[in-house]
Parts: sequence; C-alpha cells; structure tokens
Amino acid sequence: MNQLHVFFLPYLAYGHMIPTLETAKLFASRGVQTTMIVTPGFVEPVEKARKSGFNIGIHVMKFPPEESGLPHGITSDQISDDMLPKFLKSMDLLQEPLEKLLEEFRPDCLVADVLFPWATDAAAKFDIPRLIFHGTSFLALCASEHMRIYKPYKNVSSDLEEFVLPNLPHQLKFTGTQVPNFYREEIENELTKLLTKIKESEIRSYGVLFNSFYELEPDYADHYRKVLRRNSWHIGPLLLCNKGGEDYKAQRGKESAIDEHECLEWLNSKEPNSVVYICFGSIATFTTKQLHEIAKGLEISSQKFIWVVRKGKNQKEDGKENWLPEGFEERTKDKGLIIRGWAPQLLILENKATGVFVTHCGWNSMLEGVCSGVPMVTWPVFAEQFYNEKLVTDVLRIGVSVGNKQYKRKESEGIEREAIDMAIRRIMEGEEGSEMRSRAQEYKEKARKAVEEDGSSYTDLSALLEELRAYRLGVNTTKVNNCSI
Ligand code: UDP
Repeated sequence: MNQLHVFFLPYLAYGHMIPTLETAKLFASRGVQTTMIVTPGFVEPVEKARKSGFNIGIHVMKFPPEESGLPHGITSDQISDDMLPKFLKSMDLLQEPLEKLLEEFRPDCLVADVLFPWATDAAAKFDIPRLIFHGTSFLALCASEHMRIYKPYKNVSSDLEEFVLPNLPHQLKFTGTQVPNFYREEIENELTKLLTKIKESEIRSYGVLFNSFYELEPDYADHYRKVLRRNSWHIGPLLLCNKGGEDYKAQRGKESAIDEHECLEWLNSKEPNSVVYICFGSIATFTTKQLHEIAKGLEISSQKFIWVVRKGKNQKEDGKENWLPEGFEERTKDKGLIIRGWAPQLLILENKATGVFVTHCGWNSMLEGVCSGVPMVTWPVFAEQFYNEKLVTDVLRIGVSVGNKQYKRKESEGIEREAIDMAIRRIMEGEEGSEMRSRAQEYKEKARKAVEEDGSSYTDLSALLEELRAYRLGVNTTKVNNCSI
C-alpha cells in the first residue's frame, strides 16, 4: 500500500487544537490517511470536520486520569496557575495509551504538539519519525533560542532597561520584564523542567512543522534552518489550506457567544476599515481595572468597535458586571458591540468593515490578521507573544505596539487609556496607518499564493511527504540537527 498514514496528537488548548486539526485536514486533502488522537474535551471539532467530509480517523484517550483529581473533560483554558503542575503531570500519563496505539496501528509518522516532548521517544520505540507541531513563528523560535543561549537580560542594570537580542537578522529589543521570572531566575519547577525537555526533544525529533509561510519571515526561516540547523517544513497558513464555508469560519474551535448573522449584519452596516476588533485569544485574562481602561480608551478614541471579553473570575460581583464604566454600553450603543465569550473571529477579521485588530499576538490570531490583510495593535501578555509582536511592528511593519512590557498569563494590567487610544488612532487615522494597511494587504496576497499549487508552502509539504515515503522504504534522509552557534 502506497498511502501514508499519519497520527496527529494536539495539545489540549484551542490555540493548539485548531491548527493541528487543520494540519490533519491538509494532509488528508493531499491523499494521506490521517488519525487525530484526542482527549474527551476535543472530540467535537474533529467530529465536525468528519461530518463536513474530511476523511479523518479519531481515537479518544481518557483524560484526565482519575487519580489526578482534575475535573472530567478539562482543557487548558480552564486551568488556573495552581492546577498547572497537576495538569502537566496528567499530560505525561498520556504516553502509555499513545504507545499502545502506535504499536497497534504503526503509522508512518507522528505529528505531536511541542508540549509533548516524550512523544519523540514514544515514536522511536516503533521506529516512527516524530514531527513537532510548533504552533508559532520562525522568528519566535529563533528569538527564544537566542534568549536561552545569550541571556542578554543579565547584562542590563534594571528589568526595564532595553537590550538587543544578539545575532538575529534584525535588531530586536526587549526588556527583562518581558521574559518570565522563572526563566530569568533559573528556578526549577514543573514548567521549567518541561521547557528543558522540549528543547531537547526539538533537537532529537525528525523535524518541526511550521504554520507559517516563507514569504512572511524568510530571514528567520533561513536562520532557523541554516544557523540553528534544525529540520523544518513551512506548510501554512493552514487556515487558507482548507477551503471551508462560512459555517466553518464561524465555528472554529467553540460555538460563538453571538449569532453570526447578527454580528455580520452589524459589520455590514459599517464603512470599510472603520471598526476596531479587540480580542485576546482563549487563555489570557485581564484585571477589572484593565478592562475598565480598555473601555475608556475605546470611548476616547471615538472609534466603532467589537470587543471580545472572556469571562474572568473577577469580572462579576454579586451577579453584576463591575468591569464596565457606568453607562458605557448605553453611551456606545450605536458604535460598539461587546461579545461576552467566544467570537466568530475569522468572520469578523475578514469583513471589510474591520480596520484594525487589537491582538495579544497569539500565533493563530496573528496569522488570521495577516491572511485578512488587517493592520494590528499589538498587546502581548505571555508565552512567545512578545516575540511575535516584533514580527508585526519591527519586521513586517504592519502594526504598532500598545506598549505592554509585563509578562503575565492571567490578570494582566498596566496599560492606560491614553496608550490604547493613541495606538488605535495611529492606525485608524493618517498616513502611517494607511501605509501599514497597504503592506498588510500585500502579505494577505503573499499568504494566498504560498498555499496555491507550486506556492512555497505547497511545495514544502510535497517535499515532506516525499521524505516520509522514502523513510518508510528505509532510505533515511534526515539531516543532523546541530546548532552552529
Ligand atoms: N478564537 C476565536 N474566538 C474567540 C477567541 C479566540 O475564534 O473569541 C480563536 C482565534 O481565532 C484563534 C484561536 O482561537 O484561532 C486562539 O489562538 P491564538 O494562538 O491566537 O491564542 P491563544 O488562545 O493560544 O492564546
């Protein structure tokens, strides 16, 4: 049988699950037999893909284990900081059931999320190549590797003093406060142990799959391959690879908290490029004070807006919302729409009325912004988001920063209304903003071309599939992963 069979193991968060499922769809559309290995909380999106005609198999692994004490069906967006160690431990327990499946089905390749470093050894037991699904940019991986090697935050006199990350293609500046404390202080805990294992497995695995395209970050794709000497394939933007209808776009991940038609009707009644869309992904939360400042910033900017507010624990008091300024919704009722919960983000970004995307720089959101040709106000809060910000502001020059310097996963705060107003108006008004908009439109076009037949991402996937076929026949084409710095 000539057909390749590939297993996909996504991490338990929507920001990881959505692009992994899109990768499986892409492989299936190129004639590969695909199987998603999921936990109970993520069966629904796979079933939806299967119902819409994608030939994708599914295996469900029990999670979390009973002894963990975690609630049934829990996903990472429901995890508080104190639950994190238990959650990470429970994820390790998935190795055994995965190995059973690998032994039984003997796929030709395992694509496993970067957060499962043990997947490389699990696959190696059965001589199956393991690819890492790294849902981020080439720039972010190059930058984090340089941060690890050079530790430039040690050479400044204060946490707020800027330093340049050495030896990258651009002069990218950061502050110590944008690098997590546990990392700078070299504290050993469950998370830092996991990060070390991830680094090791990145070097020992067969290679890395990027949801990116060459034309977006050529200097960093080259740097990753030629200087850091890692095997990789760029196959994105995945969201453009699988032609889905409006339904698919509206329902990526979870069900929307707003009727999509109502939302579109609202947008369609607005002028082109006149609406500010604000959304911070599926994990980050803000304090009540920060939400208040966002509301005030929007009000003084006088712009129309759609603002997505995730339900955080301190947004309600005695059943009442306490995070909106008095009378805000009444005053802005003709201008603004607040979505409490999950928004149909892709539909909103693709709508002509959307003029700027205020984003936390999660990689999926950034790609969605790029593919929609919308300039951005960048507001990173944690993970690799501070690196992704630099791609938008310093490299592509399709956005401006709101100025957050503080790494904080939950209950982030510190940005004042004036900074929000100014960043939004720099894009919505004036020459600088229209130049960013035209550059954003150029990247939208480049993204579309990358996934077309003979485009850079299409061809890179063809090369990978060819290599996997050769591997199956016993021709090992793997190059040695060996950092040259
Ligand atoms: N998303 C959405 N509606 C929301 C919030 C998020 O559709 O209200 C989607 C968004 O389009 C993106 C993903 O969830 O595809 C979030 O991933 P990202 O990498 O941007 O951020 P994370 O959630 O991992 O921080």
